[in-house]
Amino acid sequence: MKQFTFERATTPAGAAAALAHTPGAKLIAGGTNLLDLMKLQIETPTHLIDINRLNLNQVEDVQGGGLRIGALVRNTDLAAHPRVRSDYAVLSRALMSGASGQLRNKATTAGNLLQRTRCPYFYDTTKPCNKRQSGTGCSAIGGFDRNLAILATSDQCIATHPSDMAVAMRLLDASVETVRADGSQRAIPIADFHRPPGTTPQVENALARDEMITSVTLPAPLGGKHIYRKVRDRASYAFALISVAAVVQPDGRGRFAYGGLAPKPWRVEAAESQTDAAAIARVTLAGARTSEHNAFKPLLVERTLASVLAESRS
Ligand SMILES: Cc1cc2nc3c(=O)[nH]c(=O)nc-3n(C[C@H](O)[C@H](O)[C@H](O)COP(=O)(O)OP(=O)(O)OC[C@H]3O[C@@H](n4cnc5c(N)ncnc54)[C@H](O)[C@@H]3O)c2cc1C
Ligand code: SF4
Repeated sequence: MKQFTFERATTPAGAAAALAHTPGAKLIAGGTNLLDLMKLQIETPTHLIDINRLNLNQVEDVQGGGLRIGALVRNTDLAAHPRVRSDYAVLSRALMSGASGQLRNKATTAGNLLQRTRCPYFYDTTKPCNKRQSGTGCSAIGGFDRNLAILATSDQCIATHPSDMAVAMRLLDASVETVRADGSQRAIPIADFHRPPGTTPQVENALARDEMITSVTLPAPLGGKHIYRKVRDRASYAFALISVAAVVQPDGRGRFAYGGLAPKPWRVEAAESQTDAAAIARVTLAGARTSEHNAFKPLLVERTLASVLAESRS
């Protein structure tokens, strides 16, 4: 691990200002992703700004029936929150499918959204990776890409975003709230939050350098039946090969979002007017580019959707 300096932030705008004024600074929340990356010297912040003492760990009702989730709410607490369990069960289920109990006890809402890809070459510092070091090349293209993306990729990066929580938040049309060093605030629809790689795979989200997430807001509940189905190599403690988040209404109309397919949680609203799994999968996966190792993903999506739809009718 490289040497770094450390401070504890006392206000959100102060944390954003510290980001702005210290080149190479990073915020640290649960540390479950950042510290791993620092040990491997994939991330080498010169200064850490600890935000854990900021008062951002509440889940509160907002006008219109929605819910505001503080950036520091731990994944365990969010999954167990009574309103999340009753009104946003797909989020609770997605959270509970992620990582392990110990990790969920530390991992925060904002840190989870900002966790970095699990592309194996990103973690292998002996191999070129455009996301880790811009302009060095992508070892995954033409390499072993079984876990990697088939949608919204570029010829510079085919990594997926690994978060389960973010897939449910995309389904629910969450919005990510932030503050900057000058105190200005904004809300970013989650659909626009994670960036496809294009020619800048190292730029993964819409945040400015001096911008900190303060909360995530969910709109009023959708009702319906909530399902999160994660398909993975082990029954627990593994990232998704694919995942499907669904809210299906009694009349059969549904919303669907997917993990394991793209550099961001994937949702194609146009597919939601279809009623059978094959048609939903066909529209959702339009433009997908597979390789020898991940050619199984489209059929896996269709079959998982079929199973989710069957469960929604049971
Ligand atoms: C073994 C293992 C298995 C895992 N399995 C899964 C899984 O199956 N599914 C899944 O979804 N996740 C999984 N995870 C990932 C885990 O969920 C994330 O590591 C965790 O959610 C990150 O949250 P954190 O608070 O620890 O973030 P940190 O590590 O503290 O931070 C992550 C990033 O977010 C930035 N950041 C943190 N807070 C803010 C903020 N408020 N504003 C701006 N930037 C901020 C940090 O600077 C850093 O860049 C796994 C992790 C491990 C180690
Ligand atoms: S897919 Fe992206 S993260 Fe993986 S090696 Fe290529 S550039 Fe790096």
